[in-house]
Amino acid sequence: MTPALRIVIAGGGSAGWMTACLIAHRWAHLGAQVTLVEAPDIATIGVGEGSTPSLKRFFEVLGIAERDWMPACNATYKASIRFRGWSPASGVAEYSHPFTTQLDLHTEDAFVNNCRNRRLGFDVPTLPDAFLLGGVLAAAGKAPLAPAHFPFRMEYGYHFDSARLGAFLREHAVRLGVTHLPRRIVRCEQAADGNLTALVTDRDERIAGDWFVDCSGFSAMLMRGALGVPFTSFKDNLFNDAAVVMPTPQHRGVPVETVSTALSCGWAWSIPLTTRFGNGYVYSRDHLSPEGAEAELRAHLGAPAENAEARHLTFSPGQLARHWDHNCLAVGLAQGFVEPLEATALHLVLNTVDLFTDHLERGGFTARHREDFNAVITGRVERVRDYIVAHYKLNTRDDSDYWRANRANEALSDPLLHILETWFRRGDLAAELAGMEGLSHFQSLSWHCLLAGYGAFPPLGRTQRDDVDFHRSRDIAAFLSGCAMNFPSHDEALGLPPLPAAQDQA
Ligand SMILES: Cc1cc2nc3c(=O)[nH]c(=O)nc-3n(C[C@H](O)[C@H](O)[C@H](O)COP(=O)(O)OP(=O)(O)OC[C@H]3O[C@@H](n4cnc5c(N)ncnc54)[C@H](O)[C@@H]3O)c2cc1C
Repeated sequence: MTPALRIVIAGGGSAGWMTACLIAHRWAHLGAQVTLVEAPDIATIGVGEGSTPSLKRFFEVLGIAERDWMPACNATYKASIRFRGWSPASGVAEYSHPFTTQLDLHTEDAFVNNCRNRRLGFDVPTLPDAFLLGGVLAAAGKAPLAPAHFPFRMEYGYHFDSARLGAFLREHAVRLGVTHLPRRIVRCEQAADGNLTALVTDRDERIAGDWFVDCSGFSAMLMRGALGVPFTSFKDNLFNDAAVVMPTPQHRGVPVETVSTALSCGWAWSIPLTTRFGNGYVYSRDHLSPEGAEAELRAHLGAPAENAEARHLTFSPGQLARHWDHNCLAVGLAQGFVEPLEATALHLVLNTVDLFTDHLERGGFTARHREDFNAVITGRVERVRDYIVAHYKLNTRDDSDYWRANRANEALSDPLLHILETWFRRGDLAAELAGMEGLSHFQSLSWHCLLAGYGAFPPLGRTQRDDVDFHRSRDIAAFLSGCAMNFPSHDEALGLPPLPAAQDQA
């Protein structure tokens, strides 16, 4: 167990407040004192509105019910991400990558078996939407909330207003005893051994600590600034480095999925909240100007975006060479950023804090623990990167140099090359991924969704499909749509009034 610690967190974005809540919750009884310092005049990034199921676990750990936090954050349920237009030449216009539920254990084998047969050249159904419950719920506009009599555990994520989530967590953290100091940090003090000893604010206050957490966003002022930790760029693998963001009004029948649509030099997200849609276009500045990106996003969104205000931001894909250095941990954008395609950033925040607190409880501040921790987190970020890189490498678009350059990209990691090679030589993908146990957030089923969703298969053979044992997707579709009848509509689950009759909408 840890000694009573003074922990100082620099930064009050989602990463800072999540870290504060988790540490205060976990270590309050050990006498840990948590202080969070945030500059009132440096805005949080204000985007990042989609989560994975790890946000569900985060609130469960804190003991906060959905009915308490979701309305406060204009949050909606997320069963899946829908990918549109990423692989038009393969004949697949769109596909769904759902969060896996316990029920999928009953249909997963059929999907994987069909994919195997399709890899062997048989023309059998392989669109993930037809085999997994999350995609079926999303298509039917149903919330992934199982009634008490439904005997399978559901997994799902959320969409939320990130500014409201930050405010909600701040209030909760303060209730847990976290001290909130709205001050700008102007410098850090260090001991002779390099350890940080205090943060100094613009009011010349000295905030001393035993342990520091850098949640200062892209500036990484403690890790890169004070401690000089190098940054490893992913620009060779991931070309996108900018986004333009604009909200549009919400309409009734709130979707249960994020939609990611490929555009000329990147992709656009559409994230439904109860009060608005969050939209953004993530693109590469080497291939498109900010003005060009804004015009393309407006055209993509159509009339609802006519008066929408646009906000532009830039980022550098990559990660710190060390996420834990001396007595400082980096969390959130300060530790790095891959890109938002699979909405994994907050997942990595929670992963980092969980693993770090585990390590500290087990072994304290030893160099061996630090090295183990850094190897695991670095590997996890790299495996998320690989999964995202595969979306670009496998694209079959031909409408710009951007997509052709992505397809031609040879800067692939060894693990990614092995995964793709295993798939195309018809090998055992699950076994290949099992070798990366613990490092890969994306398991075999997710890779099957991506590869089958892209129609990334060897050419069809001449043998008829009736020669193999395959699963007819319509049998499974009937089973899943029967299951889906147990679930409430999304609007109903969110407590929104029912849709007006058709003539009222005209
Ligand atoms: C285009 C884009 C889309 C994204 N989409 C998603 C998504 O769908 N899902 C997801 O999980 N994530 C997403 N992310 C990532 C997500 O936005 C971040 O991981 C999350 O918001 C956490 O940010 P943060 O708290 O690390 O940094 P920030 O929000 O930037 O907060 C930094 C904090 O540090 C403080 N600070 C900075 N300097 C000082 C100083 N000198 N003194 C005191 N305080 C200081 C600031 O005041 C602020 O409080 C996206 C990111 C981008 C760029």
